[in-house]
Amino acid sequence: MNAIRSEPTRSIFIFGATGSIGRNALDVCRRMGIRVVGAGVDRNITSLKDILQGLNVSVLHIGDESKSEVARDLFRTERLFFGKESIEEAIKESGADTVLNGVSGGAGLRYSVAAVKQSVPKLALANKESLVMAGQLLMKAAEESSTTILPVDSEHSSLFRLLRFVKREDVRRLILTASGGPFLEKERTEPSPEEVLAHPLWRMGRRITVDSATMFNKVFEVVEAHHLFGFAYERIDILVHPEGLVHGLVELGDGTLVAHISAADMRLPISYALAYPNTPSTSFPISLSDTAYRLLKPDSEKFTALRALQRLREGVSPSYVIALNAADEVAVNSFLEKRIPFSLIPEIVLDVADGIPEKEPSSIEDVYNIDEEARMMAEERVGR
Ligand code: NDP
Ligand code: MG
Repeated sequence: MNAIRSEPTRSIFIFGATGSIGRNALDVCRRMGIRVVGAGVDRNITSLKDILQGLNVSVLHIGDESKSEVARDLFRTERLFFGKESIEEAIKESGADTVLNGVSGGAGLRYSVAAVKQSVPKLALANKESLVMAGQLLMKAAEESSTTILPVDSEHSSLFRLLRFVKREDVRRLILTASGGPFLEKERTEPSPEEVLAHPLWRMGRRITVDSATMFNKVFEVVEAHHLFGFAYERIDILVHPEGLVHGLVELGDGTLVAHISAADMRLPISYALAYPNTPSTSFPISLSDTAYRLLKPDSEKFTALRALQRLREGVSPSYVIALNAADEVAVNSFLEKRIPFSLIPEIVLDVADGIPEKEPSSIEDVYNIDEEARMMAEERVGR
């Protein structure tokens, strides 16, 4: 982790502002008195207008260029930027000291890359796909441009905190917790999208909610932790914790465990990333009484997605993980559009990742080429 030189956030550009992370981030900024100087979405410009009420945000980025005419009508005084070619310019224009990447899916990688290229001091990263697709390249580029990447994903925020309090050489293993999603205890054969989207603990975007139900989300989080903290895959484990209060554990050499317990509220990890290296002044207390804490071994017979963890530990090429993410995005969308049943998601994703030719990308464009190839393979499987 390269988090040493950081300062608390004063001004921020929030990409994915209309999403679940984006809205939580706006709330945190209001509470912490952080100036929101830029906001970005893909196409939801009417919602963007609503959520920015009273904030005086001067720079806006809209991913979907076909929205330019309507956006110019809607936002008359703001400086507007459109499309992937202008992400860097928008960030530069805003002068933000922090970019928060709350974009969903593989599209989010370009926003992380743009923040790093602009040498923005702090990148608060919710878009885990950035690290899944290009962990090595992104961490290296961030180091070179002195951008500190701070995790927003709750488990990684917890581990990041815990690692500040222990000596790295004392750490044997990192453990990420998983809620187990809606089907941990209830058996459902071929659930509908509506049943899958009813997550027991968190209100999140559609992709990550489906990924929680298959547990691919945890596979992606293991990759994310590997790049953020520099631990080998054999030293990163997962445990199912349905109560959602323990978010991360660090196992020390003597077998003891240090755990981070907090409310299941994304505003907490967001506040932590923005206040870093200080402690946030916001407070989200929890009550500990009458709560059972279960930590269960995940069932990889039931959650076949977890087989990917074994492949990671055996040593796979970066193209494997890029393909996992790309195929998952295609399979999840196809499930939500009712083109494939739920049970086919892991099958398609694991097959595509196993079938992609082994490659080591040397640039972000290489990453997107592998991503594109995997998407085509997944589309082909869906259409069969
Ligand atoms: P949502 O689906 O709720 O929101 C996605 C946001 O990204 C929207 O603002 C959307 O804009 C924007 N977006 C989508 N595609 C593009 C694009 N091509 N260019 C620009 N903006 C785009 O997602 P979440 O907030 O749930 O998740 C965001 C990221 O954070 C994901 O990577 C997820 O894995 C991660 N994360 C989320 C957690 C959560 O609690 N939600 C927890 C931990 C991690 P528009 O409205 O215009 O479509
Ligand atoms: Mg998480």
